[in-house]
Amino acid sequence: GERAARRRPSSPLEALQRVWGYDAFRGQQAEIIDTVVAGGDAVVLMPTGGGKSLCYQVPALVRPGTGVVISPLIALMHDQVDALEQLGVRAAYLNSTQDPDQRRDVERRLLAGELDLLYLAPERLPAATGLLDRAEIALFAIDEAHCVSAWGHDFRPDYLRLSVLHERWPQVPRIALTATATTETRAEIVDRLALTGARVFVASFDRPNIQYRISPKNDARGQLLRLVREEHPGEAGIVYCLSRASVEKTAEWLAGQGVTALPYHAGLDAATRSRHQSRFLREDGVVMVATIAFGMGIDKPDVRFVAHLDLPKSVEGYYQETGRAGRDGLASTAWLAYGLQDVVQQRRMIAEGEGDRQRKRAQTLHLDAMLALCETVTCRRHQLLAYFGEQSGDACGNCDTCLAPPESYDGTVPAQKLLSTVVRLQRERGQAFGAGHLVDILLGRETERVRRFGHDQLTTWGIGTELDEAGWRGVVRQLLALGLLQVQGEYGVLGLTEASTEVLRGQRTVRFRREQERVQRSSRRSA
Ligand code: ADP
Ligand code: ZN
Repeated sequence: GERAARRRPSSPLEALQRVWGYDAFRGQQAEIIDTVVAGGDAVVLMPTGGGKSLCYQVPALVRPGTGVVISPLIALMHDQVDALEQLGVRAAYLNSTQDPDQRRDVERRLLAGELDLLYLAPERLPAATGLLDRAEIALFAIDEAHCVSAWGHDFRPDYLRLSVLHERWPQVPRIALTATATTETRAEIVDRLALTGARVFVASFDRPNIQYRISPKNDARGQLLRLVREEHPGEAGIVYCLSRASVEKTAEWLAGQGVTALPYHAGLDAATRSRHQSRFLREDGVVMVATIAFGMGIDKPDVRFVAHLDLPKSVEGYYQETGRAGRDGLASTAWLAYGLQDVVQQRRMIAEGEGDRQRKRAQTLHLDAMLALCETVTCRRHQLLAYFGEQSGDACGNCDTCLAPPESYDGTVPAQKLLSTVVRLQRERGQAFGAGHLVDILLGRETERVRRFGHDQLTTWGIGTELDEAGWRGVVRQLLALGLLQVQGEYGVLGLTEASTEVLRGQRTVRFRREQERVQRSSRRSA
C-alpha cells in the first residue's frame, strides 16, 4: 500500500519485491539499476517488453528525491501514473493536457518531496527548469531516447534540448532508454545527450516467440483476411498501413468481413482515437488498423499478430512495429506483404520528398536494408539481428525462410533481358516505360500499346517466356531492391543505374528468389 512505498526501500531488490511483487530482476536490470543508484549515467538499449521501466522506476524509489521521466508519450502518461499509484508509488505528470490548477498541485507535491516519479513532456522542460531547480531530483530518465535522432523515424526537436539536463544538473544521474538499437542511433544518443561517460547496456534484440514472415503481395486483403481468420481468429492484432485513406478502407473492409476492426490515425479526432485505443487495450480480439502513429508505448501484452500491408521505411521501424506483438512471450506472428508497387512508391517518395541529398541518401540506405530483409533467401531473424549488430547462431526455425526455404536461381540472363529492353527503348526510341509494359514486351504480348509503339519489332519482344508474369514482376522488384534499376519520374517509369551496366556487360551475376506462384494461386482459390 501507500504507506509501504513511502518508506524508502533500502535496496533495489527490496523495492522490486515489496512494490512490484516480482521475485528477481531480469537480464541486465540489476546491473543497470545499480549503476544509476550509485549515481552513474546509463544508456539502455532493450527491446520492447524487455523491462525498461523498472530500470528507472526502481532507482527513483531507492534514491532520495523525485525521479523525473522525460517522455514524448503524453497520451499514455495518465495510464502510466495510474498504474504506479495502484502499486503505491507516488507519481504524477506535467503536460499540456492539464489546467493551471492541476499543474500547481503537482508542483506543490514535487516541492514538498511527496513524489517518487514525475513524468514530464519534453516541451515542458524549459518552463519547468526553475521548478526543478527547487526540487530534489533523484535521477533523469529519458524515455524513447531515439527521438533525439534527426534521421530517425520519431524525431522530436524538443529532445535536442535535453543536453541541458547535464549542464544544469551535472550531479544528477541520467538514464536514456530506447528499443531502437542500431549503432548509428546509439552514437547519436550518446553524442546529442552528452552521455559520453555513460555505461551502455545492450540487451539481445531477439524475440524468439515472434514468427517473422514476409510474403509477395498479390491479393493483400485476401492474404490479410486469411491470416486473421485462419491463424488468429478472435485475437488482438495490429494492421499497419501507410496512408490514412488505406487505414480507413482496410478497417471498413475487415469489419464488413466480420472482424472487429477499428481505424486509428492522426487525422481522426482525439475522442475517437482515445475510444479506439481503449477498446483495443481493454476488449478481447480487437484488430487495430493504423498508421505508424499508433503503437509507441502501447503496453498490451497479448497482441498476437502485427501485419504490414505496406513496406516499412526502415528495418528499425519494422522491428519496433513488429515488436508490439507477443510481449507476453507467447507465440505471435509478424507478417508483411510487399510487392513491386511498394518499392516503386517508396523510391519515389524519397526522390520527391523533402530534405537535402544527405538525408535522401540516409533514407535510401534505410530502405535498401529493409528491401534486403524482404528479399533474403536466408533466415529473416538472422538478418534482422545482424542489422542490429548482433550475431545469432544458426537459422532460427521460426521464420518463413526457415520453415519453407525459398528457391533461388541465377537470374543473370533474365536480368540482362529486362535491362537490355530498357536500354533499347531508351537508346533507339528515347522512350521509358513502367514494369507492366516491359513485362508485356518480354512475354511477347500483343497489347494495344505494344502495337501502337511497334514494340513487337524490338529484338527483345517475346524473348522472356522462361518466366511468367509473376516471375517477371519479381525480377523487376528485385532489380529495384538491388539498385540495378531505378524509378524515374512520377509515373513509375524505369531506368538504368550505373550498376546496371555491370550486369549488362556480364561483369556481375545476380541471384533471385523464385516467386512461389503455385502457393499463391492455390491460396487465392481457397479465399
Ligand atoms: P519495455 O518498457 O521495455 O517495453 P516494460 O517495462 O513495459 O518493458 O516491461 C514489460 C513487462 O515486463 C511489464 O509487464 C513489466 O511489469 C514486466 N517486468 C519487467 N521486469 C520484470 C521482472 N524483473 N520480473 C517480472 N516481470 C517484469
Ligand atoms: Zn529463421
